Formats: sequence, structure tokens, C-alpha cells
Amino acid sequence: MSSYDAADTATRVLVLNSGSSSLKYQLLDMRNGSRLAVGMVERIGEKTSRLVHTLPESGGDSSDGDSSGGDSSGGDGGRERTGRFADHAKALEAVADELAHDGIGLDSPELAAIGHRVVHGGLGFSEPTLIDDGVLAEIERLVPLAPLHNPANLLGIRTARALRPDLPQVAVFDTAFHTTMPEYAARYAIDTATADAHRIRRYGFHGTSHAYVSRRTAELLGKDPSEVNVIVLHLGNGASASAVAGGRCVDTSMGLTPLEGLVMGTRSGDIDPAVTFHLRRVAGMSVDEIDELLNKKSGLVGLCGDNDMREIRRRIDEGDERARLAFDIYIHRLKKYIGAYSAVLGRVDAVAFTAGVGENAAEVREAAVAGLEALGLAMDAKRNAVRSGEPRIVSPDGARTVVAVVPTDEELEIARQTFALIGEDRPAIA
Ligand code: AMP
Repeated sequence: MSSYDAADTATRVLVLNSGSSSLKYQLLDMRNGSRLAVGMVERIGEKTSRLVHTLPESGGDSSDGDSSGGDSSGGDGGRERTGRFADHAKALEAVADELAHDGIGLDSPELAAIGHRVVHGGLGFSEPTLIDDGVLAEIERLVPLAPLHNPANLLGIRTARALRPDLPQVAVFDTAFHTTMPEYAARYAIDTATADAHRIRRYGFHGTSHAYVSRRTAELLGKDPSEVNVIVLHLGNGASASAVAGGRCVDTSMGLTPLEGLVMGTRSGDIDPAVTFHLRRVAGMSVDEIDELLNKKSGLVGLCGDNDMREIRRRIDEGDERARLAFDIYIHRLKKYIGAYSAVLGRVDAVAFTAGVGENAAEVREAAVAGLEALGLAMDAKRNAVRSGEPRIVSPDGARTVVAVVPTDEELEIARQTFALIGEDRPAIA
């Protein structure tokens, strides 16, 4: 029996997010979007790898003493396993063991599909895509555009296919949501022939998050996504802004790579490209050193030595000038993008803050919106100070533009898109 025949009872989706030395996973039940298992394997290929596995919807305690080798009960009620997982295949086998141990293994008939996060889908992949050999070849062809991420994503896909060759596997691309950007927003003003020969254009990233948050923001406003214009500010360690008009992305701050745009934890964001020539010619740095400087040693960490916004706020409270300046530069860039995207959209119904900083740092939200009354933006200090995991409005009643905090959920969105794609041939599950 194929998985398609079993589709009416198969309601679970396993979401895999493979990095170069890590594998994050979540098993979701699509009847209600609940998490059956959440975990990750880190340091794959190194001497000691580590697997942490939790069962969040059942209270988190899945430890029953059936420990062998390096198994132990994790600190937060999950299970932890250390040992050497030589490659992604070994890591996924270990994950499969953990799931089987809980009676929710990869061979269970309830598993409908595996959804894979794939960072770069180029221009061709504008939708979630059922993976076959042709799709794999195309993702491979995009490796030069995402040399760190796509090979890791491919590893995860190949491993999962080997384990369950009969199961539908779906690729959900980080770039897909941004493929609706008009040509005038996506093209760099450089020689067209050179740009086209090397596929140089603005692709944007964090698309799954921007898609999810813009849709949830419309829901928060009680409107259909097609009726609202939203600026989404995804502020995590990586950070990006997007302008979403009627549910379609019309501009985003990341470009050919995730380096462009906002000031991030370790990335510079926008910079005069001539800085790189200067570093090469005058400072004598190699291309790899400049790449490392701008991607890993810049942004907040380059400015003040810390990339964690909690630490930066603590230092500011103690009167630390470097931390203050780093914060001010971060906010200045954020404001410029809010202003730019207000101009791009014409009418802004909502500005939505999301990801680690956007969801948690009330001071960042307050500072980003301060002084933007002319754009219809205002903050209700009391609402902004409330901590919650729920989508919420933090602007005063009656504000022309709603300011909202909308927690992102990329795994749920990948699972949703995966399940919708494989379920197109069958009646929707209530
Ligand atoms: P993400 O990449 O979305 O996981 O976000 C990670 C970042 O969120 C961290 O580097 C912190 O800067 C930030 N963050 C997490 N929790 C808080 C908090 N309670 N207050 C301020 N910043 C936070």
C-alpha cells in the first residue's frame, strides 16, 4: 500500500532542517498542528555528537529508563544521547530509533510525509515541491548560490529518502515566498549580462517565516491576507524585513545572500561594496577573510563584542557606551527599512515583529517605532511590556498602523505546506 492510499489516516509530518553538522526535527500532527516530538542532533561527524529528544505535547517527559550506551535523561524532561554519529545517515537513524521508542517511528502508517527546509530555491522554486531525482539535481545546481546550506539540506533529503523511499518528501524553500518580488525590486543595478550569467539578483531568505507571520498578522487583524499590507521584521540572530502587499512579498532586505539588509547578530547588513575592495587592496585581506569578517565578525558582535540582545541591554543599563552605540546603529537601520517599506507599500496596515529579538525585546520594538508617528506608528507601553507566546497588538487602539508581535513558527509552516501539497488529491482532514 502506498502512502497515498493511507493518506486519510496519515496525518503526521516530520519536518527536517539539516545543517552542515546538525539535524533539527519536529514531528507534527496536522489535525491540530501539535508537536509529537521535537529534537536535534548536533556536532554530526565530530568526536562526540549529541541528540536531544523531547515530547512536548505529552508533558515533555519521555524518559523511561531504557537507556543504552550514552543515553541519559535530558535536563528539561527529554532524552539525551551522546556518542559519535559519523554522518547524517547515522544521525537520522538515531532520530528514527528515538521516535520508534515512543511508538511514533518513521515506519508508522500515520506518517504522511517528510518536509525538508531547503535554503535556496533560486528563481525556479516558487512553491513547495515534491522531491524526485530531477528536483534533487536542480537543488544541486543551486549549490553555488548557497554553498554552506544547500549541500547540508541535500544530505538530509538523501538520507531520509534512503530510509523511507516510498514516502512523499517535500522541499520547502526559504526563498520561495520572495519570488513574487517585482523585477525592479529583485534586480541589482549592475550590468545585466554579468548578472544573468551568474544568476546575481536579490533572492531573499527567511521566506517561510515571512509567509507565516504575514498571514498570522492578517488573522490577528481579522482580515484576509489579500486585504492587508504588512511590514514583517524577522529579528533573530539573522534578521530580515519584508514588505508584503495583499499576501505577496514585494520587497525584502536580504539579497543574493543573507548578508544584505538589517544589522544582525554577526552580519554587517548593508554596506558600501567598495569596503570589500578596500579590505582587499589596502588591508590585504583574502576574499575568505573578508567573507568571514562580514558574515561572522560584524553586526552587533563586531560593534560591541556581544550578539545577544539580552546581554547588550544589560550592558546599556550599566552605562556601557559600546553596547549603546551598537544598539543605536541596529535601531537606526531598522527604522530606515520601516520607512523604506512604508514608501514601497504606500499604505501599511501593520508592522509585525517576530523571531528571538522581535518577540522578546520590548526595548527594540519601542525604539524602532519611536518618532515614526508621521507614518501612523505608535506604541502602547503597557501592551508592549507584556510577555506572551501569543500573537498580540502592542499599539494603542485606533492607531492608523497596527504594531504587532507575532511569534514565528517555521516548522509548523513547513509541515502545513508539505501536508497541503501531498493532500491536494484527497479531501481535507477536518
Ligand atoms: P533566533 O535566531 O530567532 O533564535 O533569535 C536569537 C536571538 O534572540 C538571540 O541572539 C538574542 O539576541 C535574542 N533573544 C532571545 N531571547 C531574548 C530576550 N528575552 N530578550 C532579548 N533578546 C532575546
